[in-house]
Amino acid sequence: MKIVDLRCALLGENLVVRVVSDAGLSGWGPVEHTKPYLKSFVLLLREEIVGEDPTNVERVMLKIRPRGAFKPWGAAVSAVEIALWDLAGKAAGVPIYKLLGGKVRDRVRVYNGAIRAPMTRFEPEDYADSVRAMKAAPQGFTIVKQGIGFHSGMKLRPGFHYGEKRAGAFHGWLDRGLMTERGLKHLVACVAAMKEVLGDEIGLALDCGPGMVVSDAIRLGRALEPMNILWLEDMLSGDYIPFVNADVYREVTRATSTPVHTGEQIYLRQNFKQLIEGHAVRVVGPDPCDVGGIAELKWIAEYADLHGVLIAPHGIANGLLGLAALVQVCATLPDNYIAFELPWGRPDWWHDILVGLPAPIVEDGFIEVWDRPGLGVEFDVGKAQRYLPEEDAGFFD
Ligand SMILES: [Mg+2]
Repeated sequence: MKIVDLRCALLGENLVVRVVSDAGLSGWGPVEHTKPYLKSFVLLLREEIVGEDPTNVERVMLKIRPRGAFKPWGAAVSAVEIALWDLAGKAAGVPIYKLLGGKVRDRVRVYNGAIRAPMTRFEPEDYADSVRAMKAAPQGFTIVKQGIGFHSGMKLRPGFHYGEKRAGAFHGWLDRGLMTERGLKHLVACVAAMKEVLGDEIGLALDCGPGMVVSDAIRLGRALEPMNILWLEDMLSGDYIPFVNADVYREVTRATSTPVHTGEQIYLRQNFKQLIEGHAVRVVGPDPCDVGGIAELKWIAEYADLHGVLIAPHGIANGLLGLAALVQVCATLPDNYIAFELPWGRPDWWHDILVGLPAPIVEDGFIEVWDRPGLGVEFDVGKAQRYLPEEDAGFFD
């Protein structure tokens, strides 16, 4: 089998990558909905992969892996990797999980941050209301994640921290610095209000930055110790920060029993080496759509497991194709797997154009692993076609 084309189109909010073979089969790959600008970057990979056998996934990856970098620049390579596995699975007539070593679980746990109403106020009662709604969701989530501190509008409160306010309500990488005592107390009060609602029935994870300084990260971890938080994510670096900071994370991890988590922006297993070997965090969170693909994520999970480090993959923006990819790989991970971050269709019509997902998708906080070849999902082309932008009209041809 040979690759004859690489295509990329914007479908709703997510770019979709299509690797076309000469055998009448195609593979699909997802790009986060936050990166519509990457289309031309994806297409630059076409000349490298045309003519290659897509079922030799690693040989193709050797050619294109050097074309990626930390988020957002690992996304194109990652989407192609997933599309290659989809093709390889279809060619072999087996689900991707079989090619990755087989499944070790029949259903995979997810955690929710995607299905929710946006917050407009950031007082303890608002955080309580937000998680109350997530607790009541029909998907029966067993873990929810909430943005706090620099990862939320909370940072706009007067006197939250000593630094400049640059990013507005958006979380990101522009606001950082030492928090005030008032800011830290407010943060802890908001977490306590959420725990009051969730009790010990539903696990609470917190996305916290990036932007905190080491002393505040340690203070926060220690203050939350009685609350048994699942993890504190990206306190120091993360999101779009193009470095890892393993030695600094290690200081925080060693100072508190509250688990510390990072890794969603990191590209390739090599860049997890110091975090894992140095026991710098308790949980890593690579995103298959940024790290270099699903096999890359599998290797990181295995290596983390050898070192007593847990894994909770990132995925909120990966759309329904990304959801399918996460199910395939997470079915194969060792028992250091906690849950993956559930992506959702954006807009809603994505749920009409993709065939093969379970209905309902999530039950009791889990997704049943399905058994069709490749990713196990296909487009209803008749329905999907009409949503293509004019410039991508030939995408499904
Ligand atoms: Mg995050």
